[in-house]
Amino acid sequence: MRVLAFLDGSLADPDAAHLRVDDLGLLRGDGVFETILVAAEKPRELGPHLDRLARSAAMLDLPAPDLEGFDRAAQAVIEAWQGGPEIALKLVYTRGVDGDPAGKPTAFAMGLEIEEKVLRARAEGVSVVTLERGIDTELSSRAPWLLLGAKTVSYAINMAALREASRRGAQDVIFTATDGSVLEGPTSTVVLAKDRTLYTPPSTIGILPGTTQHALFRGAEKAGWTVKVEPLSVADLLAGEGVFLASSVRKVTRVHTVDGTVLPDSTALQAELLAAYESEY
Ligand code: PLP
Repeated sequence: MRVLAFLDGSLADPDAAHLRVDDLGLLRGDGVFETILVAAEKPRELGPHLDRLARSAAMLDLPAPDLEGFDRAAQAVIEAWQGGPEIALKLVYTRGVDGDPAGKPTAFAMGLEIEEKVLRARAEGVSVVTLERGIDTELSSRAPWLLLGAKTVSYAINMAALREASRRGAQDVIFTATDGSVLEGPTSTVVLAKDRTLYTPPSTIGILPGTTQHALFRGAEKAGWTVKVEPLSVADLLAGEGVFLASSVRKVTRVHTVDGTVLPDSTALQAELLAAYESEY
């Protein structure tokens, strides 16, 4: 099941062609996007996702996105959805057609089923490998044109890293900086649980501020956890009671193995954190 909607709220056939071949989102990966989880017909963290879409667009000097239009398109997708109980709702916003004097961005919302492998990872956890990202933790502030922390549609590196993980017999990746600090997953935020405290690295080191991690920390604090945003090393991950990958579609997925080292069983911890996260909705 897939549902496509444009910003005026109109629906369109997702199997038909709608974009031009000279769209700069396609030709140069010049655009931004969001993926939102819709559960029980409600988009989760819609405000933070729209804020992040606007922030990413500003980082690319795109015109400010029509957030009301994106909200309208999102609602149109949700209303027309007849698929599974959850939707992966994508909002896409590109620079539009190359050389268009009007400079009109391309914008749409699309609802997709949650992939089978994501459902399996939620249930069974994942094995990850750490892979170098080639950036230092100061680069983001020194070189804003590198767009670190913007959610651009240029995910070729992220997808290549996942294929590398697969070649190494793992299902997911934790990127590391040149000093060995933990960055993020290709499509997720890293969370460590240790001594009733949750940790995640600060987004200022050049990673995406995660809406799921934020919601999880909110819920966990209410449930009595301490939460800390501070730099983490891979050794920290190995010394904790649980490592998790958080993202909109995967929610809070448990990591059971890092670079071949099996971590302590965090199944019960995952259930507790998931309950804290779900309590926000
Ligand atoms: N980091 C990256 C690079 C991502 O692509 C994502 C989501 O896809 C996340 C973190 C997690 O963000 P969120 O929890 O807002 O989905």
